[in-house]
Amino acid sequence: MHNLSLAELSRQLKQKKISSVELTQLFLDRIHRFNPKINAFISVNDEFALTQAKKVDETRLHTPEKLHFLSGIPIAHKDNLLTKGIKTTCSSKALVNFTPPYDATIVDNFKNAGMVMLGKVNLDEFAMGGSNENSYFGPCFNPWDTNRVPGGSSGGSAALLAARLSPAATGSDTGGSIRQPAAFCGITGIKPSYGVVSRYGMIAFASSLDQGGPMSKSAEDCAHLLSAMASFDPKHDMTSVQQPCYDYTKDLDKSLKSLRVGLPKEYFSGDLDPEIAQILQKAIDEYAKLGVTFIEVDLPDTKHCVPAYYTIAPCEASSNLARFDANLYGYRSSNAADLEKMYAQSRSESFGREVKRRILIGTYALSSGYYDDYYIKSQNIRNLIRHDFHEAFKKVDVIFAPTTPSIAFKIGQLTSDPVQMYLQDAFTIPVNLAELPSIALPVGMLQGMPVGMQIIGPRFTESRLLNAAHQYQKRTDWHLQCPNDFT
Ligand code: GLN
Repeated sequence: MHNLSLAELSRQLKQKKISSVELTQLFLDRIHRFNPKINAFISVNDEFALTQAKKVDETRLHTPEKLHFLSGIPIAHKDNLLTKGIKTTCSSKALVNFTPPYDATIVDNFKNAGMVMLGKVNLDEFAMGGSNENSYFGPCFNPWDTNRVPGGSSGGSAALLAARLSPAATGSDTGGSIRQPAAFCGITGIKPSYGVVSRYGMIAFASSLDQGGPMSKSAEDCAHLLSAMASFDPKHDMTSVQQPCYDYTKDLDKSLKSLRVGLPKEYFSGDLDPEIAQILQKAIDEYAKLGVTFIEVDLPDTKHCVPAYYTIAPCEASSNLARFDANLYGYRSSNAADLEKMYAQSRSESFGREVKRRILIGTYALSSGYYDDYYIKSQNIRNLIRHDFHEAFKKVDVIFAPTTPSIAFKIGQLTSDPVQMYLQDAFTIPVNLAELPSIALPVGMLQGMPVGMQIIGPRFTESRLLNAAHQYQKRTDWHLQCPNDFT
């Protein structure tokens, strides 16, 4: 049951082969059994989940026409999404006791679809990180090898999917946080174009880059999830953009015969592990059999992406995190002598090292005298990146790229060297800077660990990316592999 696709689960629920309460209980049992090995969940609320499931079962009995395709199916939410009445920590001591008064639009959309929330999921504190080691609740471990990281910041979401503790999860991606953990854990995730998914109620890290997205076992599952998750939200998120169609499953079965695929040489050289390059080549060969044409493209400014991102993201973070001042909510130091010390001590005592580093870098880069040299320069680079992609997409429909330069690294391997950690994001960051969609999917194994590939498209071509990934997954079974210890 825990290996089934969302479509299959939906079918079994509809045919009453299983009830939502039974399905929810099955996943709760798996969570209680396996989560101690991987620390993917921050909180699990059995009662809340079972009550939601029961409601769906009752509706199915009396007014089944009111149900959505996904009704009754469990989902786990990244703990940077506000959940009304349920603790939301963002993996920070600053928010350990914070219970939000409202739901994020994403959470609300899944609630309206009748999905059952299993619990809240581990991440790097405030989504800052690429290993899930920066969590106040301790690191999350990769189910394929618990000595390795699951990636981050949506590490918990990817790990629990690989361990089959939920059939679906939410993630957010500011510089790769859906795609890199998807690659490290062998699951599928899509980072939508900026504006497709509402950011309302998703705790802000870097607002011009943040975008929520679904994570699951396959592109087909992600298509169903994105259809429920994406919405135009003009009242609450002014950067949300209305889409002509919210059915992301509509193109899944299209032929890829006329698809032109760009291979950027900047991504297939240099930092990429040669063994990963070989695995990607096999995926490319598989796509060639589907009739796509390959064209070499140039993305000449790729090398500037990491420094530009690690300036812009901290600048926005330093501003966004100013709201955590211990006044209305959040951790407050109990031994401050006056108001100013209360602000300073509360923040010093509650933020972790990486969050402090980003606030310091961001505040420095925005300060008068340095603003033009760092912030404005980075914004100019961002324009160049957008331009590079724009030029490339005149020649091709999608671009293939590695997701990560290597397989999942060991716990603790990069913690003492933040720059090495940042360089891991070289292949994922450009997409966020250019506000593009990108899907990450597993395409092979190396040393017993999954290897991922990305398919990047022009803005608002999510359906095309899901189609391209689905056609590959119909012919291969990398996305169906799951780690032995969790069967
Ligand atoms: N690893 C990147 C960072 O640390 C990306 C994080 C994200 O996408 N939330 O900023």
